[in-house]
Order: sequence, then structure tokens, then C-alpha cells
Amino acid sequence: MSDRIRVTVWGENVHERKNPLVREIYPRGMHTTIAQGIAEDRSLKVRTATLQQPQHGLTKRVLDETDVLVWWGHAAHGKVRDTVVERILARVWEGMGFIALHSAHYSKPFMRLMGTSCSIIWREAGERERLWVCNPAHPIARGIDRYFEIENVEMYGEPFAVPTPDEIVFISWFEGGEVFRSGCTWKRGNGKIFYLRPGHEVYPIYYNQSVRLVLRNAARWAAGDGVKWIDSCPQISAKNAPESLQIKGGRLHREGEAGFR
Ligand code: ZN
Repeated sequence: MSDRIRVTVWGENVHERKNPLVREIYPRGMHTTIAQGIAEDRSLKVRTATLQQPQHGLTKRVLDETDVLVWWGHAAHGKVRDTVVERILARVWEGMGFIALHSAHYSKPFMRLMGTSCSIIWREAGERERLWVCNPAHPIARGIDRYFEIENVEMYGEPFAVPTPDEIVFISWFEGGEVFRSGCTWKRGNGKIFYLRPGHEVYPIYYNQSVRLVLRNAARWAAGDGVKWIDSCPQISAKNAPESLQIKGGRLHREGEAGFR
């Protein structure tokens, strides 16, 4: 890992170009605003990538040089190529952090990492959200008091169909009465994963100072220590076993042969 944590902010960049409401809030794309919020911490070196670039801007080289991938998608989950998804998963298992934002609960990489439907309930009524800190000692909650609020949001409510998180950092209460596990962490392979709920594109949520603070905290937390766990599945011959070993019974595989995939 280099001195600075390398963050790549990926945005699908669709509604910003097609919907005048979203374009007015995010004239240079949501990925740009998210990246600017994270880059306020000079220890974080931030770049962006979008769906429209060749290989969605996520070549093997870009991912190899990424410590944390931040993902915002909504209208075009299905347009993300499976070869790029596989590349992302391999990097997460190696140790790259992955931060899924808002509607990225239904993104291909997040759903694959979770292994469940990742469904929610939702409502678009511009209501108030209060995000309660569940673990004041957690690095992602640093600098946040007991809670923070966002005046206008889209509601996401329980049940959130994900595996039980390793840690719940935030729980949201909404003006309409629902609640939601808004900030959750998991580990997959050697990679740290964080889901952060706020971020509906018709509200200026990524200009909110508390949201930006949480994004910076999360990027530092998810970066891990830079040590890679390279995936392999080697056959260890009997003569290379730590203890002296006699081969007994039948064998399916020849010496030195690769296993089935
Ligand atoms: Zn939304």
C-alpha cells in the first residue's frame, strides 16, 4: 500500500445526465461530489470511475491500485458487466475495502458479496432521517455525537435482507416511523465491507457534512492493512506434508495435478 489510502469512487452516472432534478444538484455527477467529500482528508487519494468508461473504468490495473472501492448505482445495475464484477470480488477477497452506498444494496457486487436478496422497503416522501450511533467507539462513527439528521431523504425500512452484519454502526429512524440498519459492516475473505444507507439522488445528501465525515471515516476503516490474501487452491503432496505420511487407499488425483474448478 502506498503512503496514502487509494480510494476509487464509482458512479453509474445515469440520472445525473438524464434527470434535470438530479443534474441540478450534481452537475458534475454524484461520483464527483462523493469524491470531493472523501478527498477533504488529505490522507485519502481519491479518483473516480463511471459506468460509461471502457470496462466501467475498473481495469485490473485500476483495481490493483485501489485500496477502497466506493459504489453508487441505481438505474443501471444490470448494465454492469459480469467480468468486471468478478474482478471486484477477487480484489475484495484479497483485501480491498468495499463501501456500498444507498441503492447499491441491489448492485451486482454487493449482492454477490452478501449472497442474499438484499431487499428493503422504501418510500420517496422527502421525510427526515435520524441516524443513531450504535457503537460510539467504532472508527466509522468518529466525530459523530449520539446521532445526526438529514432533513429530506427517501425512506428505507426493515426488513433489510442481508446476512446479520458483523457490526451495526448506525440505526436510522424515519419521520414516518420506520427503522433501518443504516450503517453495517461485514468481512468477506480479507476485505472489509461497509454499507451506508443515505444517498438518494434527488436530495443533496452528499453535501451533508456528517455524511461526508462518515464517508471519510469509512474509507480509512475499510482500507485494511494493505496485506493481500492471494486466492489459490494448491495440492500439497504427501511428501511435502509437515509430518511424514504414508499414502493409504485410492486416489482420484495424480501427483502435482490441479484440482477441479
Ligand atoms: Zn434512492
